[in-house]
Amino acid sequence: MARLSVRSLPSKNLAPEKLPAHWNGNPPTSFKNPWLSFAKQHGLLDVFKIRFSSERNFVPVPQDRNELVKVRKPTWGRESPAWQQELKATWLGHAGWLVETACLAPTTQVTASADSKEHRGIRILFDAVFSERTSPVNWFGPKRYTPTPCGLDELPEVDLVVISHNHYDHLDIATIAHVYKKSKLAGREIHFFAALGNKQWFLGAGLGILENEVTECDWWDSLNVDVEGVGSVKLTCTPAQHTSGRTPFDAGQTLWCSWVLEDLQSSKKLFFAGDTAYKATSAETACPAFKQIGEVFGGFDLAMVPIGLYSPQWFMSNVHCCPEDSLEIHKDIRSRKTLGMHYGTVRGGLSAQYEDVREPPRRWQECCAKEGKWETECWLCDVGETVTAA
Ligand SMILES: [Zn+2]
Repeated sequence: MARLSVRSLPSKNLAPEKLPAHWNGNPPTSFKNPWLSFAKQHGLLDVFKIRFSSERNFVPVPQDRNELVKVRKPTWGRESPAWQQELKATWLGHAGWLVETACLAPTTQVTASADSKEHRGIRILFDAVFSERTSPVNWFGPKRYTPTPCGLDELPEVDLVVISHNHYDHLDIATIAHVYKKSKLAGREIHFFAALGNKQWFLGAGLGILENEVTECDWWDSLNVDVEGVGSVKLTCTPAQHTSGRTPFDAGQTLWCSWVLEDLQSSKKLFFAGDTAYKATSAETACPAFKQIGEVFGGFDLAMVPIGLYSPQWFMSNVHCCPEDSLEIHKDIRSRKTLGMHYGTVRGGLSAQYEDVREPPRRWQECCAKEGKWETECWLCDVGETVTAA
């Protein structure tokens, strides 16, 4: 059996506190955003107000697929032999990515054999969602308008599953069930990573996931992960300005986060923002976490930041970024190459009433171009496309 081992490294927290500012209670029973950039939590009354406000501007998803994000069949980067030695990522739509580290033993024959353990890198699945709806039930709730680039059964074998938080558009039981079952049937090991309070969900999901197959982390916790014969990565749980919850009654009870992945084969660094805001419109200062992340890791080769589901901004800006905010995150973390995500796939329950699905990629391109960063530092890709950290 392939050996997969997870070992704790010293925390990356530069200024540890006795009681971390994002904890409620010790041990924490729930979590909060500890920055002025969050402003205030909106109540149910606000939710009701914006859902039925006369200021809604509902624009249906265009019928013509040419106006929407393109979808292609993934190759997982196997078309290029040189890419075996690169950290690479394939977009699965919304915030989902299959990341693969550089390979220890590249092969000149890039065929099906390139999928064997000796000729591949470590595969890490981030926030992948293959379900039709991002809701607790399959008959109600936000439904995807862009298909997945492949079926779940076409997803290559995965070693690590990394989750940013438990919202339905990031943590999908159908996807988790599939990759877990597939690895067990093949006699391979798989390991799940999420922030504090989420372990119970994995153990209680009825999938047979074992205690020692899940690691939950606080912000700045850092881990070394070895996959025998394949390679090693460092994973660090980093802050994000967001929230969590899978029912109306568990808001904030589990922690949300972003992640840093360091590929020890290629020495490349990746930042996955998960779901985050940058600055509430009513706040005077931006979330300081991104500058800290940039300083602690000395910048990134590849980053994924959310750019959609930000309307109406007065309401959403404390939990989601608009493209102009995403560009600030790109600069704060000091990324060489940043991809926009969290758009083009499924509409938000509330922002659907206000946001044209074509707006986030257009605004992202516009604001990046204004600063000379469009397609020099900041990019978009097709669903199913593989990008590298080169
Ligand atoms: Zn979320």
